[in-house]
This record gives sequence, C-alpha cells and structure tokens, in this order.
Amino acid sequence: MNAIEELAAKQGFECMGTCDAKKLVARPEVRAMCSVDKCRVYGRSWACPPACGDIEDFERLMHEFDHCLVVQTIAELEDEFDIETMGEASELAKERMISLTQALDEAGYGATTKTFTAGTCTLCSTCSYPDEPCRFPDKQLVSMEAAGLVVSEVCTLAGIPYNHGPLTIAYSGCVLY
Ligand code: SF4
Repeated sequence: MNAIEELAAKQGFECMGTCDAKKLVARPEVRAMCSVDKCRVYGRSWACPPACGDIEDFERLMHEFDHCLVVQTIAELEDEFDIETMGEASELAKERMISLTQALDEAGYGATTKTFTAGTCTLCSTCSYPDEPCRFPDKQLVSMEAAGLVVSEVCTLAGIPYNHGPLTIAYSGCVLY
C-alpha cells in the first residue's frame, strides 16, 4: 500500500481499488443523464452540471494524473426500501471523502491529488448558486458523475465490484494522484 492508499484506508472505506487514471473517460451520456435531473440538483449547485464545467476539461484534468484510487462506503440494507440506511451511508461516504481530502492536504498531497465524491456538494446547507459565487471553490465536492465518469466502468477498471450484491448499497468516490 502506498501513502495515499494508507490515508484512504484510515478513513474506513470498506472497499478500494486502483486503476490507470489515463484510461478514465468522461462521457457526454453521463451529462445527458444528469440533465434529466432525477437527483434534483442539476442546475442548482456550483458543483454540478452545467456550472461545474465541461466534461472535456474534466477528462483533460484526469489525464494529468497517473492513478485513480476508487474508494467505496458500503452498507447493508434491511430491505430494498431502507431509505434511512441509504441516507446514512451517503452522509458517511461524504464525511469520509472530506476527511480524506483534509488528510491529503495535511500530508502535503493537496496540490498533487484531486478527489471526486458520490453525490452533490453538501458543504453549505444551501448552495449559493446562482446568485453568489461558490463559498468554498477550493473545497467544493464534485461527484464522479458530474465529472462525466460512469462509476460502474471505473470500478471495473479498478478491479472492484460496483454492486456488492442484494440488500447492499455502495457509494463510490475517487482520488486521482
Ligand atoms: S461549497 Fe457551498 S456554494 Fe460551493 S458548491 Fe458546495 S454547497 Fe455550493
């Protein structure tokens, strides 16, 4: 395990895998899915499309790195309608990514890494979009999907499951380095 993987492991992620960052593809189809606005944040956050930037720029950025470490928070559900556990796991996944980003900064890797989360930015109770600039442009949480990544595809590249079986939920984020 290298130093970045060790910092990630300390956050408690249940599953991790690494792939070549230069193989990551930002796909326009993912943007098309975002624009359907199932998650109710499309066009409502600086960290989500369309405000977060073009996928071509994201792909260019990703290819500046050598490795992509995928990290997953996994929870077991009581049944397929266990919304409470899904919400708790989603929050935990965000907390872990924020904590990991902080740990990377403190260890001196801030300038040489880039993190993507699962789900929209929740750093502020209400996003300032579009009336005021982002309050924390350096810390805002951009999801893998907002960057144009197909999460299942990245998991496959990293050699880990996207779906961990019936009655489980997995939230994936990644660190590029
Ligand atoms: S940091 Fe705050 S203002 Fe910026 S994208 Fe996140 S929620 Fe919005």
